[in-house]
Amino acid sequence: MNAYRRIMLAVDLTEESQPVADRALALAAASGAALHVVHVIEPLSLAYGGDVPMDLSAVQNQIHEQARSHLAEFADAIGIPEARRHLIFGRPENEIQRAAEANKADLIVVGSHGRHGLALLLGSTANGVLHGAPCDVLAVRVGQDTPKAH
Ligand code: AMP
Repeated sequence: MNAYRRIMLAVDLTEESQPVADRALALAAASGAALHVVHVIEPLSLAYGGDVPMDLSAVQNQIHEQARSHLAEFADAIGIPEARRHLIFGRPENEIQRAAEANKADLIVVGSHGRHGLALLLGSTANGVLHGAPCDVLAVRVGQDTPKAH
């Protein structure tokens, strides 16, 4: 089987991003692939149903700036150069797929963990990315039910 050449790591920038990144880094090192990273900023209107009776643009700008510096910090720490960092605004599952396609990635790496409540019914980002993905998808188990090494 051909080795992966371009890997798209999707991070939500929570603490769970590190184990997902570690897996992507190991794969990239083993296959000689170029590692890209994508973070998607969700519009507040998406998160809150689009029906908030106030102007959210200032808050949205602040979120954008925070995400930009957080992504820079994260990518610096794992050695991903600026040209391979992608900060996108939109719906994570769609934009992760689009970023993979635009950058000709042959593997997307996402985290996958147990969901609670309503989010469980709506499905996970990993599921959304998998459906209609333009390439292979690796879902790295993260969170409380990560199998322990014995
Ligand atoms: P979730 O289904 O939201 O728990 O997210 C699972 C995984 O999807 C995360 O570990 C990331 O790999 C990816 N993901 C979720 N949200 C985002 C986001 N806003 N930007 C990029 N990747 C994301």
